[in-house]
Amino acid sequence: MVVDKTQNTDLWQLLEEVPDPEIPIINLVELGVVRNVSRSEDGLITVVITPTYTACPAKKFFEDLILEKLRENGYDKVEIITQLSPAWSTDWLSEETRQKLMKDGISPPTGDNQIVQCPVCKSTDTKVISDFGSVPCQSLYSCNSCKEPFSYFKCHR
Ligand SMILES: [Zn+2]
Repeated sequence: MVVDKTQNTDLWQLLEEVPDPEIPIINLVELGVVRNVSRSEDGLITVVITPTYTACPAKKFFEDLILEKLRENGYDKVEIITQLSPAWSTDWLSEETRQKLMKDGISPPTGDNQIVQCPVCKSTDTKVISDFGSVPCQSLYSCNSCKEPFSYFKCHR
């Protein structure tokens, strides 16, 4: 998923300051939640978002965080449009974002959820401990190699 950030760069920069409520080291633009932002001639800002997991309670959070950030910067006329298609996918996470997750001790999503890499020692000899970690979009894993527990950002398509 490639978003066009060549227009309204000031607005994109603000949106890049809005952290994901579940994984604060990445922002909503990196996460792929923010699809587009535009500004009409009369100053109305339209932000198009795609919620992550359909059942994810974070959608309302995303909207509130975006509205708050824009308001803080003097943008009062903001509408948020939810676009469900194409559905959000972990495939949208960029390589850079995956590296950031890895550095924070969260294993980034892999295509089939079969090979999960330990963010500590990079071993792929890992096992799932719990399908539900501290947040619904992550599972808890343990590394057979270095014995460290870690979170895995579940692949979702
Ligand atoms: Zn390990």
